[in-house]
Amino acid sequence: MAKDDLECSFCGRKKPETDLLIAGLDAHICDKCIEQAHGIVLEESKQGEARELSADLMLSKPKAIKTFLDEYIIGQEATKKVMSVAVYNHYKRLLQPKSEDDIEIQKSNIIMVGETGTGKTLMAKTISKMLNVPLAIVDATVLTEAGYVGEDVEGILTKLLQAADYNVEKAQRGIVFIDEIDKIARKSDNPSITRDVSGEGVQQALLKLLEGTTVNVPPKGGRKHPDQKFIEVDTENILFIAGGAFDGIERNISKRLNMQAVGFSASKSDDEVERNNLLKYVIPKDLKDYGLIPEIIGRLPALTYMNPLDRETLRAILTEPKNAIIKQYQKLFEMDDISFEITDEALNFIVDRAIEYKLGARGLRSLCEAILTDAMFELPESEETKLKVTREYVEHQLDKSIISKLKAVS
Ligand code: ADP
Repeated sequence: MAKDDLECSFCGRKKPETDLLIAGLDAHICDKCIEQAHGIVLEESKQGEARELSADLMLSKPKAIKTFLDEYIIGQEATKKVMSVAVYNHYKRLLQPKSEDDIEIQKSNIIMVGETGTGKTLMAKTISKMLNVPLAIVDATVLTEAGYVGEDVEGILTKLLQAADYNVEKAQRGIVFIDEIDKIARKSDNPSITRDVSGEGVQQALLKLLEGTTVNVPPKGGRKHPDQKFIEVDTENILFIAGGAFDGIERNISKRLNMQAVGFSASKSDDEVERNNLLKYVIPKDLKDYGLIPEIIGRLPALTYMNPLDRETLRAILTEPKNAIIKQYQKLFEMDDISFEITDEALNFIVDRAIEYKLGARGLRSLCEAILTDAMFELPESEETKLKVTREYVEHQLDKSIISKLKAVS
């Protein structure tokens, strides 16, 4: 066959009509068909990725999600349950085939009410680890309305993009944890003369993100890089988790519970109500009375609470989670061939001090650092192969450390 008679076995073009004709065993393919085929391969692999992701996610039923959370987080059963269901439904929503019927599943964004240090951030981090999706942690206190000093709400998505290594697809399936959401509550019911820069305006701006919208995001954030190109991010499938301490919300809850009691039997309801953990009874109305606008509350439909950490929980946090603090020190010493042991009395003593100094779970780590710094400094170069931490050792180390001065101020 003459060279010019050769043709593409896919589209039939003759060699002179193509820029390139590549020969195979019994066939030829032209440049145009290669391009087209390449497009198909890319598209397929994208769909394949989505399918893989869905398959992974669908394997994690709510109970499995909770079991995973249990490995890292002590207690907080109510929140774990709400979280597992909300996350499961959220990803189910992502996987639903487009409009077979008219039922559109709405987003199940989550809001957690609980004191600082009770594990709200940890909850969001653990979920993102489990799902292997990017997580942005943002503090609502720095958010302001566009045009004011502070961070624009879009900055949240800059963080998410960064967490996703600028992979927009990934970012769009990520999680945003908004901490201290209570700090953008409307301060009073009277609109003030000066504008409410950090309150309702921010809530309105945030609302758009929660509802699902396309936002032009400055990839480097802020206003310091005015010439950067914007990246379009669709927030439709981003899961938002909000957290806040809502200091003083107990008063609203208590008032509401007492009011309810009037119509029924007051003594009965008093028996049933756990007075020292009123957050347990939080309902959306309490958030509204606190100053969140109803639209925001409506967009955070999964409302849950975190229990204050009691002695037992603090004790468990030291040793039980998969990456518990004590396990981490054990590993650190192990790397220097030193076996590390700590007695029960010593652990209880650490917990007592954390409670005494009102340090919560976050303080456990600072206390351990204060106790073990000397050993971590000395032992790696010594002949020692064993460290046994007793209550006396803990007491001695803490008494000479600066952390014990906390006692004086608290
Ligand atoms: P929050 O976001 O509520 O202020 P964090 O999630 O930042 O609290 O918690 C602070 C630290 O305390 C975490 O890094 C974690 O080590 C520990 N912690 C708090 N609550 C728990 C818990 N229930 N289980 C395990 N660790 C916890």
